[in-house]
Amino acid sequence: TPIHRVALVTGANRGLGFEVARQLGERGMTVLLGARDMDKGLHAARQLAHLPGEMIAVQLDITRQDQVDTLARWITITYGRLDVLVNNAGGYYHPRTNPVEVDIAPAREAMDTHLFGTWRVCSAMSPLMHRHGYGRIVNVSSGYGATTTSGANCPAYRVSKAALNSYTRTLASELEGSGILVNAVCPGWVATDMGGPGGRPVRDGAAGIVWAACLTESLTGGFYRDGQRIAW
Ligand code: NDP
Repeated sequence: TPIHRVALVTGANRGLGFEVARQLGERGMTVLLGARDMDKGLHAARQLAHLPGEMIAVQLDITRQDQVDTLARWITITYGRLDVLVNNAGGYYHPRTNPVEVDIAPAREAMDTHLFGTWRVCSAMSPLMHRHGYGRIVNVSSGYGATTTSGANCPAYRVSKAALNSYTRTLASELEGSGILVNAVCPGWVATDMGGPGGRPVRDGAAGIVWAACLTESLTGGFYRDGQRIAW
């Protein structure tokens, strides 16, 4: 019998997170849909209730350490394991600013979510992967976080995603050989609330994330778009 996988997707009530949850559920995984607004999470889980995998809404604002700890304890008690973690939650903090005029407040908010939020979720959840020597951690990043990409717009977003990329590499190194693979994925420009209507279909952006979440080869510490390696 195939191993029954348990996945956690942050920010799963809409956009890419919702579609990633759907695609993992299609594969039969139990998916915990993280939502900072539980009503939205429950609504999302109900929309996906027809899938082969079980869909469960869980309360999770990734900037709240208490919520991360509570969820980790609940997963430990309920499943005793976690196989897949998709750190997707994020925001396009103050895109129409430049690095000179941008306030520290939105920059701090961006770091709090993309860097520290992801960091605290990884710290709390990776022990649940260590126990059985299997894990797939996907940090949803952006080409805007690539230090090889230049541009002055949305500095809070860029810098926080670059920091997330850096964290991804350190975590991958730390977990090398443990069976836990850690990668960053850029979904491309995608037509979500964040991306706006000009982006590509959400399904296509999510597919590259799901690819990394279901890796069968031992790839770790990389930055990918559509399953292809891209420059940090
Ligand atoms: P959306 O704005 O459509 O959705 C963002 C999701 O993240 C929502 O569910 C939102 O919850 C949740 N979220 C935000 N902050 C928190 C938090 N502190 N705790 C928990 N959940 C939170 O964005 P996308 O789906 O487009 O983006 C998803 C990821 O993909 C982001 O990390 C983004 O940076 C990345 N990305 C997107 C691109 C695009 O073109 N769309 C391009 C490159 C990267 P709520 O509904 O409560 O606000």
